[in-house]
Amino acid sequence: MKTVLITGSSRGIGRAIARRLAGSYNLIINYNHSKDKALSLLDELREINPNVIAVKADVSKEEEVERLFSLGEKNFGTIDVLVNNAGISHFSLIQDTSSEDFERIVGSNLRSVFLTTKRALSPMISQKYGVIINISSIWGKEGAAMESLYSLTKGGINAFTKSLSKELSPSGIRVNAIAPGIVDTDMMRGDFNSEELVELKKDLPLGRFAKPSEVADLLAFLISDEASYITGNIADINGGFY
Ligand code: NAP
Repeated sequence: MKTVLITGSSRGIGRAIARRLAGSYNLIINYNHSKDKALSLLDELREINPNVIAVKADVSKEEEVERLFSLGEKNFGTIDVLVNNAGISHFSLIQDTSSEDFERIVGSNLRSVFLTTKRALSPMISQKYGVIINISSIWGKEGAAMESLYSLTKGGINAFTKSLSKELSPSGIRVNAIAPGIVDTDMMRGDFNSEELVELKKDLPLGRFAKPSEVADLLAFLISDEASYITGNIADINGGFY
């Protein structure tokens, strides 16, 4: 059975990905602050598959990333699939955004992706197989007012994905991103009030937000061998937003 590490899988999209994959892969789920949620997910998933572990790590920090991977490898050997899902949002005018905000957002959304990817690569290159999926956002392509810093990190993820796919194809490693529109999670509910959510839905041709499980279904396809010729792709899942 292949092994998948999902960063930020205590809640939201990461949690749905863990649920979607639990029947078919060894899983390393990761949390930072939401210990209770991660442990309840662990209990749930172990009913389906005993080969699931949960590891606390702030993936913006190199020493915690090292510990996350070491524990994963100790349990399951090589990590075949890396899902860079952990992320935080930030909503403010750029002139109200501090350097501390910059460090925090770039740390969780971008440095994390650099650190985990770098740590994952040597074993993947040795076995000439690996899959990396980066969870980006519609705003990484389109940009969003009041979310310039968040958009910056997601645009960075898109460029990183395309560049890495070229660098790593000769080593048998595929790298893709998923760019969701608006997904019904804590993040989305924290960013908008109920009136704004009604207005946002009106802009969506499908007339509703994505379910986290719908993003997980796309990811399950992209990491499978059925997607063996797909790399360097930023896969849109946005209900027709554009
Ligand atoms: P969410 O419900 O707020 O969950 C975020 C997850 O990321 C939590 O499990 C959180 O863990 C984890 N996390 C954040 N910073 C972390 C860190 N430094 N180290 C480890 N874990 C960390 O958000 P979501 O909506 O599921 O978002 C997941 C991903 O999808 C993000 O990259 C987000 O940018 C992207 N996305 C979301 C939407 C949307 O509309 N929801 C749209 C496009 C893209 P703890 O709670 O344990 O700290």
